[in-house]
Amino acid sequence: MTKIIILLGAPGAGKGTVAQYLQNNYAVRHFSTGNLLRNEVERETEIGLKVKELMGSGALVGDDIVNAIVERNIEAVLEGDSIIILDGYPRTEPQAKELDRMLNGTLRNLIRVLSLDVDAEEVVARISHRVVCEKCGNTYSDLEGRKQCVCGGVLVKRKDDEESVVRNRLEEYRKSTMPVIDYYRDRIAVVSGMGTPMDVAARVDDTLQQFGIEKRR
Ligand SMILES: [Zn+2]
Repeated sequence: MTKIIILLGAPGAGKGTVAQYLQNNYAVRHFSTGNLLRNEVERETEIGLKVKELMGSGALVGDDIVNAIVERNIEAVLEGDSIIILDGYPRTEPQAKELDRMLNGTLRNLIRVLSLDVDAEEVVARISHRVVCEKCGNTYSDLEGRKQCVCGGVLVKRKDDEESVVRNRLEEYRKSTMPVIDYYRDRIAVVSGMGTPMDVAARVDDTLQQFGIEKRR
């Protein structure tokens, strides 16, 4: 039975870590909107060429395009027992409503939502310690004392990981996502993102079990 898990989480809540954990331990397909868009651009599909043009002119890629790309990709894997992780979508209530309408409303009953919850001060503290691999984008905490990424890339601090920027991003996230969380109230599990990655992984396992999804053996 197909299931669609929407992964929500403020910047710095550890969504990337959870997404990675799910890919390593469950038979899931991970759809991040960023990757889906890049894919279309690389394959130079009709929609991809449009996206390229928009990005080139500095314009934002609108909801209609993102919706169409998500729908197409979900439709392509709906056969069989797929579990789809949606990451970075829906970001707004209109997108959430559109997702429910996709494929003649068949997606509505397949959707479950996992929302990672951390308090703002914890996020600010985490991000201020974050370093990013220049080569592959992996993130680490500078508290780990690493000099290099596992891929050999150099670890750097990003400008937009400064505290004031982080606080603004959190506020933006709260404003746009609160309505999404409310919209999904009958299908959502809020999971605490506090503690060690292992603590969080155990909670994620419990939640997926509630959703009827078993770990890969
Ligand atoms: Zn790397």
